[in-house]
Amino acid sequence: MAVVNIRRDVDDKFYRYRMPLLQTKIEGRGNGIKTVIPNMSDIARALSRPPTYPTKFFGCELGAQTTFDEKADRYIVNGAHQADALRKLLDDFIAKFVLCGSCKNPETDLKIMKDGMILRDCKACGKRSDVDMRHKLTTFITKNPPPKKAKGAKGAGKAAGQSVEAQGGDDDDAKSDEDDFTAKINADAKDMPKANEAEDDADDVQWSVDTSDEAVKARAAAALASSLKANLVLGDDDEGEDDENSPYNQFGTWLLANRTGGSEGRTDLASAEVYKKAVELGIEKKHKAVQVLIQGLISEDAAKDVEKYGAVIVKMTSSEKHQKSLLGGVERLAGVTYPELVPNGVPKVLMALYQLDALDEEVVQTWGTHVSKKYVDKETSKRVRKAAAPFLEWLAEADDDDEEDSDLDDL
Ligand SMILES: [Zn+2]
Repeated sequence: MAVVNIRRDVDDKFYRYRMPLLQTKIEGRGNGIKTVIPNMSDIARALSRPPTYPTKFFGCELGAQTTFDEKADRYIVNGAHQADALRKLLDDFIAKFVLCGSCKNPETDLKIMKDGMILRDCKACGKRSDVDMRHKLTTFITKNPPPKKAKGAKGAGKAAGQSVEAQGGDDDDAKSDEDDFTAKINADAKDMPKANEAEDDADDVQWSVDTSDEAVKARAAAALASSLKANLVLGDDDEGEDDENSPYNQFGTWLLANRTGGSEGRTDLASAEVYKKAVELGIEKKHKAVQVLIQGLISEDAAKDVEKYGAVIVKMTSSEKHQKSLLGGVERLAGVTYPELVPNGVPKVLMALYQLDALDEEVVQTWGTHVSKKYVDKETSKRVRKAAAPFLEWLAEADDDDEEDSDLDDL
């Protein structure tokens, strides 16, 4: 049987990742006409996805009903569809639900996070990329999560054995009729931090996180590099500073190599030293530098790191514009580098920054109500803000208390 590259756009006979070429067989006639995909389970195996996912994807894209009988190995799309059309759709499925969003390698696992987001977890580069949650297939995936891998089963990555597998809704079968949005809301509610839970967050991370030093660092470096490259770190007055030798890039790289936080790095990097480095590079007053500062300096132990580096964070966050850049850094951090910070970590980081006086109330409130694509994609931006809700509510309440004495209440 014909075999093709999983990425059909890669024209390389020696490309490592291959799959059987999709075949079709039309059965029935009239209203009952349907397209059977006899080799769907072989294709799915090559993609490391359940065969139901691509089949259902075809149904979503074509607006057609699908049926599958896993025991009989029958995967069917209603209606008559040409093999070529389905092959193109399979390319789409692979691009959206298989390939790493960063390095385009197909060795990824789908992870369903506690907040309902579905991520592609790349074994090759360690990066995690969101799938587009607007696609209807995500509802199906949420209801039919990928099978758990046997413990100790080797994925492609050498650290696979270290991961702790968990999907939020193991006991959720009874609720399988909910749409994914309801499921998300419920998951969020369940995960909202209670008043003083700050100290026992060690247990919060239940999903699969490769915590090896290399993986963590690779993820942080990749996120920072991509934000610099994609010009996500915006500067008003900056031209041509997004190349590898830009002072921002140098600053970020230096921070990642020397920072104290998390499981890697040194144990003695001081705020003063960080500031000195920024001065040396001539960017200590730039708001763009603040975003790099956050992404380069703060690890998954975010709230603690903010405290540790409070002095330099405050010093470099000198205006409203700098604060916005700071929040952009938090979005990148929680949205891309350390997705485990959503939901519980975000309110804690914001609280820590607020208590430092690095953030003004109005700036945070405005940020909280304005989804923006400036630093991360829209979905991620929403997700981070949603996670910030407990802090924003607290802030609003604290504000109300302040105003109790004022005349405003008498109106
Ligand atoms: Zn990758």
